[in-house]
Order: sequence, then C-alpha cells, then structure tokens
Amino acid sequence: MRLAWIRFGVACAAALAACSSPDRGRARPVPPKPGAPLVAPGLRLPDLATPLAYELRLDLDPDREVFSGEVWIKIRIDKPTDHVWLHVYGLEIRGGRWDGGDLTLDPVKGDQMRAFRFGKVVEPGTVTLVVEFVGRIAEGQEGLFRQKAGGRWYAFTQGESVYTRRIAPSFDEPRFKTPWRVTLVVPREDVALANTPEVSSRVIDGRVKEVTFAPTGPMPSYLLALAVGPFDLVDVGEVGRNKVPARVAVRAGEGKHVEIVKQKLPAIVEAIEAYVDEGLPLAKLDLVAVPHLFGAMENPGLVTFDEPMLVGDPKSTSLKQSFVSVAAHEVAHQWFGNLVTPAWWDDLWLSEGFASWLGDKVSQELGAVDDPPLRAALTRRQAIEADDDPAAVPLRRAVETNEAPDESFDAIAYQKAQEVLSTIEGFVGAAEFRTRIRAYLDAHRDKSATAADLFAVFPPEIAKTLEQYASSPRVPIVDLALRCEKGKPPVVEAHARSGTVPVCIRIVKPRTSPGAAGTVSDTCALVDAITEIQAGDACPASVFGNARGGYYHVAWQTRAAVTPVAQLDPRSRIITGDDLAAAVSRGELTAEQALGALRELTAPIAACARCAATADPYAQLGALALASHIDTLVDDATRPAWSAYLAKRFKSALEPSRGARPSAAGDELAEQLADLIPADRYPLAESKAARTSLDPMIADATEELPEDLVALAAVTGGDKLFTRIVERARTMSNKELQQQWFASLGRFGAAQIDRAVALLDDATVTPDVAWAPVETYLSRPATRTATWRALHGKLGKILDRLKAPQVLRVIDATSSLCDVTSRDEVAGVFDRVPAGRTHLDRALAAIDRCIAMRGKLGDLGAALTK
Ligand SMILES: [Zn+2]
Repeated sequence: MRLAWIRFGVACAAALAACSSPDRGRARPVPPKPGAPLVAPGLRLPDLATPLAYELRLDLDPDREVFSGEVWIKIRIDKPTDHVWLHVYGLEIRGGRWDGGDLTLDPVKGDQMRAFRFGKVVEPGTVTLVVEFVGRIAEGQEGLFRQKAGGRWYAFTQGESVYTRRIAPSFDEPRFKTPWRVTLVVPREDVALANTPEVSSRVIDGRVKEVTFAPTGPMPSYLLALAVGPFDLVDVGEVGRNKVPARVAVRAGEGKHVEIVKQKLPAIVEAIEAYVDEGLPLAKLDLVAVPHLFGAMENPGLVTFDEPMLVGDPKSTSLKQSFVSVAAHEVAHQWFGNLVTPAWWDDLWLSEGFASWLGDKVSQELGAVDDPPLRAALTRRQAIEADDDPAAVPLRRAVETNEAPDESFDAIAYQKAQEVLSTIEGFVGAAEFRTRIRAYLDAHRDKSATAADLFAVFPPEIAKTLEQYASSPRVPIVDLALRCEKGKPPVVEAHARSGTVPVCIRIVKPRTSPGAAGTVSDTCALVDAITEIQAGDACPASVFGNARGGYYHVAWQTRAAVTPVAQLDPRSRIITGDDLAAAVSRGELTAEQALGALRELTAPIAACARCAATADPYAQLGALALASHIDTLVDDATRPAWSAYLAKRFKSALEPSRGARPSAAGDELAEQLADLIPADRYPLAESKAARTSLDPMIADATEELPEDLVALAAVTGGDKLFTRIVERARTMSNKELQQQWFASLGRFGAAQIDRAVALLDDATVTPDVAWAPVETYLSRPATRTATWRALHGKLGKILDRLKAPQVLRVIDATSSLCDVTSRDEVAGVFDRVPAGRTHLDRALAAIDRCIAMRGKLGDLGAALTK
C-alpha cells in the first residue's frame, strides 16, 4: 500500500523529535562537490553517517507475495556530504525525502547498497531520511520469507547475516546498534509479532489492523525479527529475575504440543542468568516455531526455531535434550551477540563461541546431556578436524564478500571458539573466568565489541595466549618429557612448537603400597619455548599431558612416562586417540608405534582382573581417530591386510552382544566405525537387515538414504540394488534429495565403480547429480585409486560437459589421492584449466602431503604381520 508522504513528515517530527537542521558551525577540510559522480564504496558502508533510530512500517499479508514499507532513519551526518549510502537488496525504491527536501536515488549501484542524494552538501548534524519501498516475500529462509503449513501462510524473517537489507533499506552492519520501532499493517485475524511487546493495535478498515511495537534497545540490524500469521499463541508464564513474560507461537492447531517449553524454559533462563548474574535483558520472550528452519535464531524477544525443536512429546528424551541444548544456546546469545555484538563478521566467533560454550555448560547443569565427557570430547574433536584442514582459517577471519559472513558459521566459529574459551576457563579456574566475562559484558553492554575487547579483560599473559588462538589456525602442539634425576625435583619439560599454550598436566603419584591407587594432582603452566613444570616431590608413576581437555596436542618425547589408557578417565581416552592421530598426520609415528598405540586403545579394559573383558567405547573412539588417520595413508596393496586387522581390533563393536545396554558412547562408536570398516567385514546378516530397512525408503522416495545403510545393503544387494536406487532417483523432482541419493551410491563396493562413472555419460541426469557418486567414491581411501583409474580416460569428454564451478569440484575431489601415478595424471589433465590453478595446486599439495606421510609411517604391511 502506498502511503502519502505527508504522513511521514508528521511521524518523523512526533516520533523522532530530532529531525533537526544540519549543524553549520563546524569547519570542514575538503568540501565535497555537490552532485559529483559517485564511486561505489565496496563491501562496507563508508564512514559518512551513523544511524541513531529506525522507525519501520511494513504492510504485509502472508497470503500475498508482495509487501510494501516505509522506513524513517534518524542519522547523524559525520562528515559533510551530499549523499548517504544504505544497504538495499531486492527492494524497489518508490521514493524518499529528508528534512531538507527530496532524496534522489543515485544511478550508481554499490554491492547490495544504493546512494541517496540530498541535493546539496549537508554539514555534520542530525537529519532524518524517509524511504518508501516494495519487495517480494521470499520462499527461502532469508530476509522476509513465508511458508505454508496446514494450508495457511505464515511470514517470518531471518536477518542474520546480511538479510535485513532485503526487508528495509538500512545500515546493515553489526557495528551499528540502533533502537528500532516497528509498525505492522497485517490482516486483522493474524497474530503479529516483533522483537518487543505490542503497544497498540487498531483496526484500520474491516480487513487490516495496524500493530505498533515498543522501541527496542540498541540492536544491530541483523536481529530485527517479525512473524505474522494465524499462530496459536501459548502463554509460558514469566521467566527469570525480571519476570519476563514468555510465549510460544506455533502454527494453528499445534499449541497443545509445546509442553516442553513450559517445562524447561524457566530453568534454562535461570541458569544462564546465574552465570552472568543479571536478569534477561528483554521486555518479552517469544519462541516462534517455523515449519522449516535451518536451526534456530537468537533474535531478541523473538527467537525462531525449526518446528521439531519445540513441538513434540515432552516425555521424549531426544526432544528434551535437543530443546534444552538449542534453547540454552539461543538464550546465552541474548548476552553474547545481542547485548554485546561483534563489531564485524570477522569476530563472529565471539558470539557463536560464547553461546555454544555457555549453552553446553547450562545443558549439562540441567542434566540434559546424555554423556558429558563423551560430548565434550566429541565437540573438541569436531574443532580439531576443522582446524587440521590445510585450508583452515583462524577464529578471527577475513570477511571480504557478502557471502563470507554466512560461510563463517562453521566448526571454527562454533566448536573451536568454544574449546578455546573452555581451555582458558580450565586454566584460570571457573570462578576467575566468570568474573572476567562479567567484566567484558559490563564494559560493552548495548555496544559492539571486538576480540581485542575480550582479551583486554584478562591479564596480559592470558590475553596474549587468547590472541594467538584467535589469530592462528591449527591446534598448538606441546612436546612433553618427564625428567627424574637423582637429587633434583622431578620436572616435566614442556616445549610449545609455536606461541604460548596454557597446559595442565595430571600427575599420578607413585603408589604408597602395592595395590593402592596412585593419587593424582593437576599442575598448570603457560608453556612457551622451554618450560619446566614441577612434577611433585618424587618421580611420578605417570603423567597425563592434558588434564582439562585443553585445546592443544601433546607429543610425548618419553613414552615410558605416559599414563596407561586403562587408568585414564573416559574423556582423556578419547583425547589420547586424537593426539596420536595428529602425530600420524604429522609423520611422527612409525607404523609399528601407531599399531602399538592402536592395540593399547582397543584392548579390553576390565574393571577388575577377573571381570569379563569388555571393550571400552571411549578408548575405542580414541582408537578410531588414530585408525582413520592411518587409513588415509594405506596403499591398495596393503589394504586387504589392513581391513582384516581393523575388523579384528574392533570386533566387539562390529558384533554388539545381544542384550547389552545401549550407551551414547557405544552408539557413537558404531556410527563412526561404519565410515571406517568396509561394509563386507560386517556379519552378512547386517547387510540383509539393512536391505530390509532400505526397501520401504526406496519405495517411498521421500527421505534421504542413510549412507551407512546403503553401504551395508550394497554387500548383498550388488548391481540390482544399485540399479533400483538409480531408477528411483532419476525421475525425482526434489533435486536436493536426488543429489543425496546419487551421492549415497558412492558407498557401494569397488564392483560398482564403473557403473557410477558411466552415469557421467547419462544424458537424463544433470552433470552435478551424476558427479555425486563418483565424488563419494573418490573421497574413500579404499576406492579412490580405482575410481580415478576408471575416471581418468574419460575426463576429457566429461570436462567439456561441465560448467566452471563443477570442474573445480572435480579438481578438489582429486585431493584424496595418494600415489605418484595418479598425481602426475591429475597434474596433466587439469593443467589445461587455467581458472582451476589454485584448486589444482591445493589438490597436488594434498596428494604430495599424503605420499610424504605414508613414507614417514613406513612399512605398514610388515608391521601388520608382526
Ligand atoms: Zn548461535
């Protein structure tokens, strides 16, 4: 609906009360020429103006694709200028004005921004812009989007990271924290929600109403949130110290199924408030269920969730665990990200790292984590795996395109940041850490902050360590050696290969009498080039190099001192495997040493000498990391012996004994082993059972095929099953699902490689889809070389069919190869793709690294026969 411009002027004067005239008192060094041609400023808004307040009025009906709006932006002009740049994307600008007259849209277009001309040079001071626009409600999950559920349309928003510019012209960068006042004109029977409580609602005509919301506090644009539709609105009561009224908005008819929120939300809020020692800084809290959402989003006062996270049987353990875990993360964001906002996307880790770290801490306190040591170790492993990638970026990363912020939501920003925070917490102590974090919140509340602001609340030596973690990729490595010399106190000699690392070792003291357990004590030190850590009075029985799960790898120079796996706690057993795996990938373990470690980790751990031997899933999860790293180095000649060895070492996990109590660690182990152990090493009955499970899924063709199930079923299903999946997937209209089905074909055995490669000639499937199974086959160490052999001769023809990004994908996939012949062939084939040079160099470097590390491991075949 187009509204008269005169109304804006009135509203501007009344609401903002500051549509003041420009300040003419100041001198300016370089007067801009009014009307001079503009140059687009690049990714960031230029420092010409700062937003002080927004008023946004949107006219929207979820039933209609088009919406319209006006935004009033009170701004401070910081430098004399005749124009101002605003972020705008996908909106049609219908008009604009400011206190001094009309705003005109400059024809020069920036990167998702437009310039608005004042018609004269405006001196520093405060002015108000008014822009009128129309847009389309998206079908995706970005900006203002809508979804249909139960035959009715609902509208939602997603501003993070760079999508508020699709809802309204704005200064869409997180450094600008500004109050927003929102008015929505919506169908009168719909529920309308925004970040703050409704302050008024009036019916404009018979069909629509105008709902106005209270102004927000200073808020970055990406947190602007709206929801409109025929929701069920369920009261959850008041939560936390400030008695914040909480509700759930869910699609019509589902209101009776959100009991989990009533049961768990109050305790989550209280636990996080206790940590930060203040009440939730909100006037209301709505949890909004979106039928299909990527996850959840922490918008202040209007947190959105993928519907299955809020709706379901409150007795379900998995619903309880997932709701508490996700809600705790989002509530933690109300401080970390919302109250204190990273000034730019390069410090996204500050927001996601703190929310993950505090969210997990609170979930555990509330008993919603099934196996805390396991989950802690696996989170750490996720971080390490991401950080071991040769292309890994640091926590603090460069953001140079509008796509980069979205690409930053990864295991580095979440898990690595979380691990770094908990490493510092473990080192300085929980109470001290909490005091510092509260100081950080106090110093920057309602403002934006950078990593340096966080470092500044710690003593200089800790700040320096944090700075190193934030600015360098990779897991730091610490060499340890125990020195017990007569007449001298025992010490652990520690050496950090780079920077300064906060290390905590656990010393097991010698037993005072035979049969008595050795007592343990922890000692922490900041380790740099050479640091001696005192190891008690008498030479310790053993030492564990990472008592608190810190984010570093230990490399022992004296194996004799290392605490035996059987004496370690569950988390430390997993960490031991991660350290050994890292040593293999650095080329620091021989095949014999690696197999020796694998034997120790997979040996039965008995609670007592006469107890039945049971393999320990934690130690086996440790072993699995080590085995997976060795696996990438295994050549084809050694593979049969290696597979047989793996099947033997993990035998108990492959054949779970009937009636054994299921455990989170056991489930995790079984799941991860399926990626390592060839499917034909599992009992044949498993393959038949997998086929039975797959049958109805293939018939329905509505859900993803679990790849492990496909791998197992392929053992007995062979060509016939392969054909059946191809035929069913070939005609699918859901392209994402089709891609996943085709990718799962790469989990078949070596016998079907030629058939997968032949799909590349199949004109009835797109090249992207046909490439998916070959890509999977290439990624598996067991089938990579054979797949490359089958592919190589046909590549010339195949490459001609592919578009440039697909060719890059093919080059990337060759980085899994690990032999000289393939390497030379890869170099030869792709040398003629000039645009792929960086990708080719990266792939060749990965192949070279693998070949070199295999050389350092030595003769695995010989070690296996010993
Ligand atoms: Zn988050």
